[in-house]
Amino acid sequence: MDFTSLNLSPPLLDALDEIGYVTPTPIQSQAIPDLIKGRDMLGCAQTGTGKTAAFALPILDAIANNPLKGPRRIRALILCPTRELAAQIHDNIEQYSRYLDIRSMAMFGGVSQRPQEKILRRGVDILVATPGRLLDLMSQGYVNLSSVQFLVLDEADRMLDMGFIRDIRKILAQIPKKRQSLLFSATIPRSIADLSRDMLYNPVSVSITPESATVEAIEQSLMFVMKSDKRGLLTHIIKVGRPEKVLVFSRTKHGCNRIVRQLGQDGIEALAIHGNKSQGAREKSLRRFRNGSLQVLVATDVASRGIDVSDISHVINLDLPNEPEVYVHRIGRTGRAGQGGIAIAFCDENEGEYLRGIEKTIRQAIPVDEGQPFHSEKARSCKGNKAPKKQQNRGRGRRQPRNNKSNGNHSNEKSNRQSKGGRNSRRSGRGRSRK
Ligand code: AMP
Repeated sequence: MDFTSLNLSPPLLDALDEIGYVTPTPIQSQAIPDLIKGRDMLGCAQTGTGKTAAFALPILDAIANNPLKGPRRIRALILCPTRELAAQIHDNIEQYSRYLDIRSMAMFGGVSQRPQEKILRRGVDILVATPGRLLDLMSQGYVNLSSVQFLVLDEADRMLDMGFIRDIRKILAQIPKKRQSLLFSATIPRSIADLSRDMLYNPVSVSITPESATVEAIEQSLMFVMKSDKRGLLTHIIKVGRPEKVLVFSRTKHGCNRIVRQLGQDGIEALAIHGNKSQGAREKSLRRFRNGSLQVLVATDVASRGIDVSDISHVINLDLPNEPEVYVHRIGRTGRAGQGGIAIAFCDENEGEYLRGIEKTIRQAIPVDEGQPFHSEKARSCKGNKAPKKQQNRGRGRRQPRNNKSNGNHSNEKSNRQSKGGRNSRRSGRGRSRK
């Protein structure tokens, strides 16, 4: 199958041709025909599967085919959790719409609102926004959502994890009921199922399982190592294996900074991206990582979302996440759009419980690399142990306040505040029916 068989308009096909998209990814060939027909959609898919084009192309097609008279109005609203993802989706839309008279903008907190006000005054057709800043600009009268015909919630599970549910519901209340709505989420916990019942009308469900999307294409390995040896092992892998482009995950912002410092002491340049870094610093690090002048990027989970670097050769899990889905998402940063990649997981004496959860979720035992110089049978023997209480509770305490300045500024500790059994998993009961 190629894109021409999906009934997209010629300017879009020309743009895709230029960008180099030849074959639709599975989510694209599954979603686009139903979306063109105007159906609502519940999509279970992660970043890396090509889902941005899956929702953006039909929306662009519909807007281009039905131009409105008069000044530009916001006809499509795309909500997403982080500024990186908002910028990424906006960039993609700009690329796809290069031959169309359609304007898109990215709106997020943590930067001055002035330039965003200016773009809004000029008029946009598609708004890609994080919920906090959008709500702020709405309350100041800069945003009018009364012409929205298309609504997308992207990475909805993350938005809920980050405490955005109230903001989302306030925003939904300002959008016309007659619209096409799409909800994409890497996982479908109960809170997402509840939200989708409130905002979607008779939706088509599409699901790209992690197994078929990424895990199979990725060469995974597991290294048992004592916590105190993790630094040595990381340096060893980078110095000896000379991986081309490495994304290292750490559970905390402090952890990221420590790794960067230690690698520096070992003669390896690395940069960190996390919520305490300024937007400028993050963009600079990402630019260098993308263009190949930076070999090692260290990130928290939330900061890593929206990193659109297609040729990451290695993902290293320096800490194992306590949510198995996060592991699947992390390793999906390599092996994007079907390409292979290498994912290495370190497991220390305290992380056996997390490893068991991950292996259960991916339904496979990750092959153990016993040949590495820091291999620890002691760490391996702790696989059956429970994780220490202190570690399990990390990041589950505070609730994320709504604050436009902190959009995207969320450490992975917050992302670990999974909705399972938490406050977010309960139905708020304030939802609207679309009927
Ligand atoms: P996404 O899941 O939307 O973040 O997309 C993941 C990556 O795949 C991005 O770098 C896209 O540019 C790329 N991509 C999306 N669709 C296609 C396609 N049909 N062919 C080739 N690359 C694609």
